[in-house]
Amino acid sequence: MTAIELVQGDITRESVDVIVNAANSSLLGGGGVDGAIHRRGGPAILEDCRRLRAAHLGKGLPTGQAVATTAGELDARWVVHTVGPVFSTSEDRSGLLASCYRESLRVAGELGARSVAFPAISTGVYGWPMDDGARIAIETVRAAGTTVEQVRFVLFDRPAYEAFAAHLH
Ligand code: ADP
Repeated sequence: MTAIELVQGDITRESVDVIVNAANSSLLGGGGVDGAIHRRGGPAILEDCRRLRAAHLGKGLPTGQAVATTAGELDARWVVHTVGPVFSTSEDRSGLLASCYRESLRVAGELGARSVAFPAISTGVYGWPMDDGARIAIETVRAAGTTVEQVRFVLFDRPAYEAFAAHLH
């Protein structure tokens, strides 16, 4: 069974096999957690992303999918980039958000990763309500049937941590 842990902090400071990035489909960098990962991880991550765009991801990474690159100077073996859905009140995109967690774990498992750190995907600029984002994250990881042994959600602030804690227990 996969152990799920919660910590409050900056995901770029984690020591794990995989750090998941809440990227945008261009894979060429953005703000929030994406900006922080590229800043601390250094240029090697962006170089790998550019290579992926030039190869099989010419149109970018579709929402709900995941892809791995080097982790550069981060204390991890890989960064797995996934593209969360933008929150919508007119359309239910929860399946796509769940897919981000599931696909990231699938890619991590294929790489042989045993520990994975996730941010709260889509809950920043993409506007997903934290409580619902936390519920989907935890339900999806619990149901994933992955070979990853340890999943750590790294929540940037106290309200995010509390939202995840409420769904974990
Ligand atoms: P998205 O576009 O998927 O909404 P964001 O990066 O804007 O992605 O936000 C996703 C979540 O990551 C938000 O809850 C935000 O507070 C959080 N976050 C931002 N920077 C960091 C960081 N360095 N470590 C962990 N979480 C972060």
